[in-house]
Amino acid sequence: GDRAARAPLIGPRELGEIARAFNDMAESLERQREAQFAFLGGVAHDLRNPLSALRLSVHVLDADNRPLESSVRRTMALVGRQVDRLDRMVGDLLDASQIEACKLDLRVEERDLRDLAQEAVDLYRPVSPEHPIELSLPETPVLVRCDATRIEQVLNNLLSNALKYSPAGGQVDVAVRAGGEGAEIAVRDRGLGIEPEDLAHLFEPFRRLKSTSGSIPGTGLGLAVAKRIVEAHGGRLFVESRPGAGSVFRIELPRSSSRDQADGPRGVSH
Ligand code: ADP
Repeated sequence: GDRAARAPLIGPRELGEIARAFNDMAESLERQREAQFAFLGGVAHDLRNPLSALRLSVHVLDADNRPLESSVRRTMALVGRQVDRLDRMVGDLLDASQIEACKLDLRVEERDLRDLAQEAVDLYRPVSPEHPIELSLPETPVLVRCDATRIEQVLNNLLSNALKYSPAGGQVDVAVRAGGEGAEIAVRDRGLGIEPEDLAHLFEPFRRLKSTSGSIPGTGLGLAVAKRIVEAHGGRLFVESRPGAGSVFRIELPRSSSRDQADGPRGVSH
């Protein structure tokens, strides 16, 4: 009668079972995800060798002074560009699977962020002459302890996106700033921008936005990899954007001096 009517529909035992079922589901999803990334890593790894051979052959043929018919030369250039693109995609896949397996080794050294920003801008200015790239640097060094190759990879990814997702003539600004504890590199474009509901998903692997994925090629891995690289440095990668007005991606890294202080007691504590 009365007691039965007030008894909870789900008792502690049922709750326990439901919780266990959820945990099992989460674990099996996690295992599936790991297996997927491991598979992708294997595929990427196997693609590397034939791709490298192809790349080398194209460059050898190109470097040869043998007179080539102009149509052949044009085709060679096209093959070269596509091979480079494949190589970058395979590299992204490899990085993503290694990062997923927590196998990202950083070779850390002290570097001036101004140099890294300068190098990235020098690299990308010739890539797209129709996008002016403005670089603004502080007068004094901005030292961070980082894996320069990895931070360059992040910068290259942000710059290539800024160019890819903004119309010809759209200016791109790269700015280095030093704050009290952190250092920042910002890459700003005046391109398509990103819808507010997409902002949260931007850094998920394989995520490509509806607005851009139809026409512009990409893997949707670049930003996922970039975020993990920055976080492995103890930093943050984030974005602010307005649709139609453009986006700014900020890399925030701890500065050498403040980090050394923060890390100080660590070695002493045991
Ligand atoms: P990819 O560019 O290879 O697709 P990314 O991980 O670098 O992969 O980017 C994921 C998605 O985020 C892109 O497909 C695009 O939709 C969006 N995106 C990235 N950068 C920008 C940008 N600067 N402006 C607008 N959309 C961007």
